[in-house]
Amino acid sequence: MDFKLTSEEEAFRDEVRAFIKENLSEEARKDPNFMATWLKNVREKRWVGFNWPEEYGGGGGGIMEQVILKEEMSKAGAPPLGTSMMGLQWVGPAIIEYGTEEQKKQFLPDILDSKYQWCTGYSEPGSGSDLASLQCRAVRDGDEYVVNGQKIWTSGAAYSKWIILLTRTDFDTEDKHDGITCLLVEMDSPGVEVRPIKNMAGSSHFAEVFFEDVRVPVKNLLGDESKGWAVTVSALAHERSGISEVAGLVSQLAQVVGLAKRTQKNGRPASEDPGIRQRLAKADAVIEGMRLNGQRFLTKQLKGEKLSSETSINKLHRAFLAIEMGEIALEIQGSTSQYTESTDGAGDDLGRWTSGALGWPAVVIGGGTPNIQRNIIAERILGLPKD
Ligand SMILES: Cc1cc2nc3c(=O)[nH]c(=O)nc-3n(C[C@H](O)[C@H](O)[C@H](O)COP(=O)(O)OP(=O)(O)OC[C@H]3O[C@@H](n4cnc5c(N)ncnc54)[C@H](O)[C@@H]3O)c2cc1C
Repeated sequence: MDFKLTSEEEAFRDEVRAFIKENLSEEARKDPNFMATWLKNVREKRWVGFNWPEEYGGGGGGIMEQVILKEEMSKAGAPPLGTSMMGLQWVGPAIIEYGTEEQKKQFLPDILDSKYQWCTGYSEPGSGSDLASLQCRAVRDGDEYVVNGQKIWTSGAAYSKWIILLTRTDFDTEDKHDGITCLLVEMDSPGVEVRPIKNMAGSSHFAEVFFEDVRVPVKNLLGDESKGWAVTVSALAHERSGISEVAGLVSQLAQVVGLAKRTQKNGRPASEDPGIRQRLAKADAVIEGMRLNGQRFLTKQLKGEKLSSETSINKLHRAFLAIEMGEIALEIQGSTSQYTESTDGAGDDLGRWTSGALGWPAVVIGGGTPNIQRNIIAERILGLPKD
C-alpha cells in the first residue's frame, strides 16, 4: 500500500499543524479556560467524530485524513478532542452501525458535544473473559424491558449518564452467544445502584452496578433482540483498536529516554547502562512493529473492509509496553520511585511514572486480558485448532 500523501492530504496536514500552532501555544495553554476553548474549537472544525456521518454532526473525514489528524494531534501532545471517551471510541461507532435513526439523532450529537459520559456494562462477577456467559436478565414487558442483575468493573459508572448494557433475554439457546441483548440505559433510572470500588492506586474509577427491576424502554434496544453479541464484537474491536494507538507510545518512550538521559545510575547517565539501553531498544522495536501492523489495518480500512480480530495484535503489544515502560522508568528512578505524586519528597517527574505504573490493569486487563488476545490471534487469525 502506498501511503504517500496526495496534495489535498498534504494541505489538510498543514491546516492541522497551523491549528495546533495557534491553539496549543504556551500562551493558549496558560488560559484558565484553555480546555473549554480547545473543545469548542476542535468541535467547530468538525474534528470530533471526524469519521462520523455529517448528518449527525460528524466530520465525514476520509480514512487518510483521520490518520493525519490523529498523528499530528498525538505528536503535539494535544488534549483529547472530547471528554466522552467511551462515547467517542466505541458507543458512538456501535450506534452508527446498529442504531435506529431515532437513536442516532438522540445520542450522536450529544457525544460529539461532550455533553455527558457513557460507561460500559459488560463484565459480571462470573463473566469477564468468558463474557458470553453473562447472566444479567432482561425480560420484555410490553414496551419495556425489566432488567435484573449485576455488573462489575464498570469504569466511570459513578459519573456517567448512560450505560451500554449487555443483558440476556434468552436463557435457552444452544449457542451461548445467542440470546444476548444490548440495551442503552439511563444511569439515573429507578433501580440502578452504583457502588464504587477502590483500585490499588487509590482512586475509585470503576464500580459495581446493580440493577433491580430497572425499566428500559424498548426503543433503547441497540441492534436486534438476542443478537447483541454482534454489537459487542464490533464495539470491542473499536475499543481494542483505540487502546492500541501507536502515536502516544512514541511520545511515552521519548519521555522514558529523556528520563534515562538525565538520571544518574552507578555514576553515569542511565541511558549509558547496557541493560537499560537494550530494554529501551526492544520497546522501540515493538512500537515499530505496532506501527507497521497499524498500517495493515489501515490498508484494510482503505479497501472498505471492517476491522475485527486483528486489533488484538496491537492490544497485546500495548499490554507488554504498558508494563515494560513503567518498569524501566521505575528502575531508572530507583528508590525515589516509591513516592507518588501526592508526596512532597517525590522523585524525578514527581512520581508520575509510579502512578502510571499502578494504572497498568486498565491497559492490560481492560478490553480483554493478554491471554484472551492470544486465543483470538491463534484461533481467528492463525486458524489454529481450539484444543
Ligand atoms: C481498569 C479496568 C477497567 C475495566 N473497565 C471495564 C468496563 O468499563 N466495563 C466492563 O464491562 N468491564 C471492565 N473491566 C473488566 C475487564 O473487561 C475484565 O476484568 C476482563 O475481561 C477479565 O475478566 P475477569 O476479571 O473476570 O477475569 P477472568 O476472566 O476470570 O480471568 C482471570 C485470568 O484467567 C485467564 N483466562 C480466562 N479465560 C481464559 C482462556 N479461555 N484462556 C486462557 N486464559 C484465560 C485470564 O487471562 C486472566 O489471567 C475493566 C477491568 C479493569 C482492570
